[in-house]
Amino acid sequence: MVDLTSYNTLRVPAKAHDFKILRSLKDLKELRVDEPYMFLCLGANVLFVHDFPGTIIQVNLKGKKVISENNEEVIIEVAAGENWHELVMWTVENNWSGMENMALIPGTAGAAVVGNIAAYGQNQGDLVQSVEVYDLQQNSFEIFTHDQCKFVYRNSALKKYLITKVIYKVSKTAQFSTDYHSRYESLEKELQAYPTEKMLYPDKVEADLVKIPAGRLLDELGWRGKTIGQVSTFEKHALAIINLGGATGQEIFDYAEAMRADIRKNFDIELEYEVRII
Ligand SMILES: Cc1cc2nc3c(=O)[nH]c(=O)nc-3n(C[C@H](O)[C@H](O)[C@H](O)COP(=O)(O)OP(=O)(O)OC[C@H]3O[C@@H](n4cnc5c(N)ncnc54)[C@H](O)[C@@H]3O)c2cc1C
Repeated sequence: MVDLTSYNTLRVPAKAHDFKILRSLKDLKELRVDEPYMFLCLGANVLFVHDFPGTIIQVNLKGKKVISENNEEVIIEVAAGENWHELVMWTVENNWSGMENMALIPGTAGAAVVGNIAAYGQNQGDLVQSVEVYDLQQNSFEIFTHDQCKFVYRNSALKKYLITKVIYKVSKTAQFSTDYHSRYESLEKELQAYPTEKMLYPDKVEADLVKIPAGRLLDELGWRGKTIGQVSTFEKHALAIINLGGATGQEIFDYAEAMRADIRKNFDIELEYEVRII
């Protein structure tokens, strides 16, 4: 059994039967795994309540490059294991727009595209041109066009595949949103005070097609900073559940379930998990 504590950002102790790290496409061709298996990158969107009874495949493919450009746009190719925030910063430094509002989201490009991550009006779906995946059942590569990815809220048609690379289009002419720099600085300060490690991040809920910030509802019910055992929330955001040290996945799950029950009772709203619970 392999210890997964350092492979999930909540740092909960869990074990997997086996653990393989994929560093190159050559590793991929040699990869033979039996079911069950799961892909894992930074582990920022996974909560291990139980041990995983199969093989974890950590996708650590690296590399990013410009593959074409004109006066208006740039097409970039990004390997799935590239750090998402570093990728966004690379585009910002080059004055290419399209990803900047998604700065500081913890994770990797591969997970970002599978889960169609988004922030402040920007999302993966708007940038992705195509995605290269590997089908472990067929032992073959496939290319998904933008439309075949079927991006919807925090989801896509890519879930059962191993993402190897993503082709994005960013703009040379679009302006960064006006509040980008101030928001980025204040977010960065908050995250320095408490790193994204050890946080669980559920998101907004949709009720009657109106987006309701779940954080505000939790605030009203006094959840911000509420501590049960070794589980609490980030002092600035009730939606970010934190492990104060030594909490188990079950304790974190129970805390999140207590939040959901409170919201259900008081607002008749069902909060859904975005995090993958194992
Ligand atoms: C503090 C905090 C803030 C966050 N803010 C936001 C936000 O603003 N917006 C937002 O949308 N999300 C947000 N998230 C969620 C999280 O950052 C994203 O879901 C991110 O994409 C997770 O990346 P990861 O590499 O850690 O993925 P992991 O947690 O390792 O994996 C997540 C899922 O993707 C799958 N996966 C990962 N890599 C691959 C691959 N190469 N091929 C196939 N499947 C793969 C895994 O099997 C798993 O199902 C936040 C999370 C935290 C902790």
